[in-house]
Amino acid sequence: MTPRDDEAARLARAQLPEGLRPETLAVRTALAPSQHGENSEGLFLTSAFIQPDAQTAARRFAEMEDFTYARTSNPTVRSLEARLAAMEGAEAAIATSTGMSAILLLVMGLLKAGDHVVCSRSVFGSTVSLFAKEFGKFGVETSFVSQTDLAEWRAAVRPSTKLLFAETPTNPLTDVCDIAALADIAHDAGALLTVDNTFCSPALQRPLALGADLVMHAGTKYLDGQGRVMAGSLCGPAKLIHDVFGATLRTTGMTLAPFNAWVVLKGLETLALRMKAQSEAALAVARWLEAHPAVARVYYPGLPSHPQHELAMRQQSGLGGAVLSFDLRAADAEAARAAAFHVIDRTRVLSIATNLGDTKSLITHPATTSHGRLTEAQRQAAGIGQGMVRLAVGLEHVDDITDDLQRGLGSL
Ligand SMILES: *Cc1c(COP(=O)(O)O)cnc(C)c1O
Repeated sequence: MTPRDDEAARLARAQLPEGLRPETLAVRTALAPSQHGENSEGLFLTSAFIQPDAQTAARRFAEMEDFTYARTSNPTVRSLEARLAAMEGAEAAIATSTGMSAILLLVMGLLKAGDHVVCSRSVFGSTVSLFAKEFGKFGVETSFVSQTDLAEWRAAVRPSTKLLFAETPTNPLTDVCDIAALADIAHDAGALLTVDNTFCSPALQRPLALGADLVMHAGTKYLDGQGRVMAGSLCGPAKLIHDVFGATLRTTGMTLAPFNAWVVLKGLETLALRMKAQSEAALAVARWLEAHPAVARVYYPGLPSHPQHELAMRQQSGLGGAVLSFDLRAADAEAARAAAFHVIDRTRVLSIATNLGDTKSLITHPATTSHGRLTEAQRQAAGIGQGMVRLAVGLEHVDDITDDLQRGLGSL
């Protein structure tokens, strides 16, 4: 074979057959390898790309095709976008520097002053601030509604409503919303539904197949999966992703760094395995906690006691995800906080950290960290008490996790 034939054969092999399953797409979807034939996708750390001649450069800049400058596109970032889109069952995806910048891109690309958003009031704390405070400054108004009461969503819709935004399950209460029902409400109103799929990832939940228009991710969490980098993404129809969000991203520069893209690209290869193992471990820990005399209540979609258990199992491939919370028994708020701090401080294996989506299990006290800026009344209304502890279950042996919790629970 001549070198040219060799390259042609390699490129032909890079064209994957139709109908591959999600696990295969997670490992195989990427741009074709370079002329070196690397098997693990390359990391392209370059800000500019050499053009063969002035005429080609002129065309590429006019048509925004191929690679010109890394704020616009980069092969490593492109591979991540292709892989994540395939896993979500989306036509296309666009990567952003963080999860929050994915929401910033969503709203800057889609909305203008005077437009209205309906959003669950139980979404990620910074998401509430972004909609309520930052977008409010630019004339985009948001109504916050119940995570689970569809009538509230319907009643909040106005003629100017352009976007419904939901996240499921929520943090730390793990409330589950009905994606298909919200999609119907959005479409009846001529609006789009975006779902923050950070907690389940496409390994468990594919919102587009349930009728959502766009999926948003904090790639920082399970997509990376090992707590290393920040990343974000929007997935959806090619026309919106390229013409609307691509154009906005190019001018605003919320671009994902190639190194971070490469880390997440590699993370996606083990996503399904991790999500399954961590969900199974979380269910075992949740069952153990539910039977513990010091625990008043466990919040976990995988437990039959969860109010939306059946919906969650239908929507999340029969798995509960890896995040759970529990309330400790206590006489009053002060005693509850002391008990929660006792359990957290007695651990010797779990990390005391406010994050999730790591192979290392994390333990946190929502009332004084992620939800510490709420007033006590707001926290009460949200159901986040001083005796609540949140766990993001990792890949340690389940017995080591429960032994670590027992150090504090057994000595309350
Ligand atoms: C972490 C997180 C975000 C924000 O992502 P960053 O990468 O931290 O900006 C948004 N939504 C959910 C559900 C998250 O857990």
